[in-house]
Amino acid sequence: MANASTDIIIIGAGIAGLAAGCYAQMNGYQTCIFEMHTLPGGLCTAWQRQGFTFDGCIQYLFGSGQGQPFSRLWEELGVIPGQQFVHHDELMRISDPGGKTLIVYSNPDRLEQHLMELSPADHRLIKDFCAGIRTFTGFDLSLLQQQPKALRTPADWGQLGRKLLPFVCPMTRWGNLSAQEFADRFKDPFLRRAILQMFAWSSIPVMVGMSLLAYMQTHNAGFPLGGSSKFAHRIAQRYLELGGTIHYESQVERVLIETRRAIGIRLYNNEEYRANRVISACDGHSTLFGLLGRQYIPRQMQRYYDGRLPIHAQIQVSIGVNRDLSGDPHWVTYLLDQPVVIAAEPRFEIGVKHYCFDPSLAPVGKSVLIVMLTTTYDYWQRIYGRSLYDTEQLQESSILIDRLEQFYPGLQADMEFVDVATPLSYERYTGNWQGSSCGWLLTKQTLPLLIQGIPKTLPKLRNFYMVGQWVEPGGSVPVVAMSGRNIIQQICAEDRKTFRAVKD
Ligand SMILES: Cc1cc2nc3c(=O)[nH]c(=O)nc-3n(C[C@H](O)[C@H](O)[C@H](O)COP(=O)(O)OP(=O)(O)OC[C@H]3O[C@@H](n4cnc5c(N)ncnc54)[C@H](O)[C@@H]3O)c2cc1C
Repeated sequence: MANASTDIIIIGAGIAGLAAGCYAQMNGYQTCIFEMHTLPGGLCTAWQRQGFTFDGCIQYLFGSGQGQPFSRLWEELGVIPGQQFVHHDELMRISDPGGKTLIVYSNPDRLEQHLMELSPADHRLIKDFCAGIRTFTGFDLSLLQQQPKALRTPADWGQLGRKLLPFVCPMTRWGNLSAQEFADRFKDPFLRRAILQMFAWSSIPVMVGMSLLAYMQTHNAGFPLGGSSKFAHRIAQRYLELGGTIHYESQVERVLIETRRAIGIRLYNNEEYRANRVISACDGHSTLFGLLGRQYIPRQMQRYYDGRLPIHAQIQVSIGVNRDLSGDPHWVTYLLDQPVVIAAEPRFEIGVKHYCFDPSLAPVGKSVLIVMLTTTYDYWQRIYGRSLYDTEQLQESSILIDRLEQFYPGLQADMEFVDVATPLSYERYTGNWQGSSCGWLLTKQTLPLLIQGIPKTLPKLRNFYMVGQWVEPGGSVPVVAMSGRNIIQQICAEDRKTFRAVKD
């Protein structure tokens, strides 16, 4: 089947694909999106089980504050003003078995005072860290994704330079220090352990964690009430209202190419669709090695996938409980004396979140508890190969729940539903390579790639583009949405059109 009137075909209805679709429609391009799943959102999702909604994505969305960095995106994509957000006063708590607790306040003054009380000996480090958070409250992270093609005149470059200049020193300092290196500098043994838990992973640059706290302080990192799936549905709705079309259950098998030019796509059911341009907004590995048949991979990109860049895979254990936890802190990481072995790795801490701050996610009087653990893809892949996968999922979750009894006595009796998502679940439902949750992991090594940018086009293939978390290291919902916006800006520049972005 051919469709002569389509300007752009987009592969994938995750946030990047939906955003690209919205901006393309705003600029007069006729588009359609092909999505292998039955719903939009990709990784930005949630699932319902026995009355509980288990959210699988957004904990913090940059751009939730009006007039703040990234908020314009959500206005243009039809999320704001309809969407309400919860802004927490604290990121999390970290407790040790001896009864010490670190409260990670989003207010840097409060955090500084609290840290000083916990460890006066670390006063210099604490002061520096909190000063860094205050500095980053004024930083517009979206500037790091600025498209060179959008900077047309020397005045544009000058303006960008002036905005970035005050942050060059803090970015260099805190971007080159990993969370582990930072934590190791504390003299206090409790803080040395606890500080590390504030960060998403040990190799993440401190700058990233600081930026999260800075945006929490300015109420620009909120949780969207209703959860991640509803959030994604709002953008899909905006896309449809702009005149776009989404084909669900339509997995793309191949990008059609003629004389080194992308001309359309073929689905697994052999249907073919044609368009002037193709944007891949799905997994990077399957795009390059599958949809394009390995032919157009630049050497540099090949190296990324040869295992040189790190990725992050995880297990999510979601529990529906017949208990109201709304009086408890929303996120506590428990440091353990004795490790618990889950998925063949000893765990010295367990982070538990409840979602009672959003009453729509559980029936009245009940709660959702979620535990996330880092894991390796290979472990689950091996088990899957030996048909032990289902048993293993059950076993690992019961080991975890046994340990949780220590912190929530009677939990097992109150449990109504347990759900386990492994890297294989993420891979199966979203196609992401090795179940990665954010494309390439953001570390000291990959941060420069975020700033320089991974190429979005391939040198030997015309009319083909890539957006989303595999070309924006570290991923995240606002960054991939910006990726979709930027590519349409680039396409407009190629067509000598003035880019338009309109609010809902
Ligand atoms: C547990 C978890 C927590 C997170 N927390 C946050 C957070 O707090 N804040 C934040 O900003 N970000 C967070 N993220 C990261 C964020 O969700 C992702 O970086 C982002 O959603 C990626 O969007 P994407 O559009 O690039 O890719 P994806 O979401 O992977 O979308 C790709 C889409 O393409 C489809 N697809 C794949 N292959 C094909 C094919 N061949 N044919 C057709 N369709 C195809 C997939 O089904 C999918 O819908 C989190 C992620 C996870 C997993």
